[in-house]
Amino acid sequence: MSMQRRDFLKTIGAASTVAAIPGCATMSGASGKVVVVGGGYGGATAAKYIRMWSDGRIDVTVVESNPEFISCPISNLVLGGSKQIGDVTVSYDNLVKRHGVKLVRDTATAVDPDKRTVKLASGQELAYDRLILSPGVDFMWDKVPSLNNVDAQAKILHSWKAGAQTVALRNQLVAMPDGGVCAISIPVAPYRCPPGPYERACQIAWYFKRAKPKSKVLILDGNGDVTSKGPLFKKAWAEEYKGIVEYRANHVLTDVDVATRTAKFEVQDSVKADVLNVIPPQRASAIARSAGVVTANDRWCDVDFLTFESVKVKNIHVLGDSIQIATGMPKSAHMANQHAKVCAAAVVALLAGQAPNPTPVLTNTCYSFITDKDVVHVCSVHQYDKEKKTVLPVAGSGGVSPAMNELEGHFAFSWANNIWADTLA
Ligand SMILES: Cc1cc2nc3c(=O)[nH]c(=O)nc-3n(C[C@H](O)[C@H](O)[C@H](O)COP(=O)(O)OP(=O)(O)OC[C@H]3O[C@@H](n4cnc5c(N)ncnc54)[C@H](O)[C@@H]3O)c2cc1C
Repeated sequence: MSMQRRDFLKTIGAASTVAAIPGCATMSGASGKVVVVGGGYGGATAAKYIRMWSDGRIDVTVVESNPEFISCPISNLVLGGSKQIGDVTVSYDNLVKRHGVKLVRDTATAVDPDKRTVKLASGQELAYDRLILSPGVDFMWDKVPSLNNVDAQAKILHSWKAGAQTVALRNQLVAMPDGGVCAISIPVAPYRCPPGPYERACQIAWYFKRAKPKSKVLILDGNGDVTSKGPLFKKAWAEEYKGIVEYRANHVLTDVDVATRTAKFEVQDSVKADVLNVIPPQRASAIARSAGVVTANDRWCDVDFLTFESVKVKNIHVLGDSIQIATGMPKSAHMANQHAKVCAAAVVALLAGQAPNPTPVLTNTCYSFITDKDVVHVCSVHQYDKEKKTVLPVAGSGGVSPAMNELEGHFAFSWANNIWADTLA
């Protein structure tokens, strides 16, 4: 590859949400069967791009438990009340009609890597040449023992998978009397969406400031400090939400008392709240365990960053929140989208008997809503390092907003509409 062409590809990768792939054209020699488990940010994107880049020659089946795609990004605004759950819900129709993806509404329950089959709850079995797992996270309920049953989980909500839980938490906030306290428990990193809990605190505070001004939002963080955009969030809490938001670090949750909505901690005193939102510790979803691809700390899946193939089990690729992240790589929708594109290009190349792109570039931008309009962002560029065989942040790339502002609010809504279209339209 000539120097100019390499630079050109680097530039495309850095400037857009399309990761650099060899030639960016379709690979007509590719054929085979790909099964994707999980039609979220990683899985749906991989499915669509494999269909496009193989010119429709690779057969792609997505197995997804839910009837519709419900986005976690923007779902904190549903808690604040400036958006409805319908605003973050997208149909799977275009994936099927425009791209010829086969969609099976079912839950994958087991993988047999030797036979290369996936078993579904309905009893159906799907054969694959390449399997892509993007199942997101499961909650480690054993770390919050009293929540390890469905009744308790219906009272003390996580709302960390957008949908019914988001609406239920909004209802709890609406029912809470003015003067009440909403406490949010944040797990020790790594967890899905580093800035998400702090954005959530802002959105709940935005609602309280207008509808219940005597109420408080208490952030009980398992981490030693705010894990993302710290100075920007702290400024918002000190100024925009003065007297409403209180931040407390080093609150590692050990359990809750469900009846009294009390959170208990390793070291700190217990806290009783009127609305208690517990974001539990997380790990790769169950199907990743069944497939035998969980390799890091009994939680996450190590992958080869050139292909996102598991380092342990051949022909199984893992994307999104389930993977063991590289340095500086967040567990985000934007990043899952980028994993999906690098993986899709690699799978198309491999099924055409070609080598995958040796220098993929990935980008990330995470917007956080402070009010219903004012937003801050953090962004970064990550490139494969041949010697270290991992993806590393590009020196001098990325950055954060100087302060919250309305213009970035427009960018953030555009980002959401664009990624929904990129994933599903
Ligand atoms: C409140 C909140 C706000 C966020 N805001 C942002 C943001 O602003 N920007 C950003 O970039 N990221 C944000 N994120 C993070 C983002 O949502 C995740 O990083 C992203 O969804 C990860 O994509 P994924 O494909 O790994 O998982 P998901 O998108 O969760 O997709 C997993 C899918 O797999 C399905 N599934 C799981 N197991 C099975 C099975 N066995 N069989 C069939 N289907 C299965 C699930 O139903 C689900 O649809 C936010 C997250 C939260 C919780």
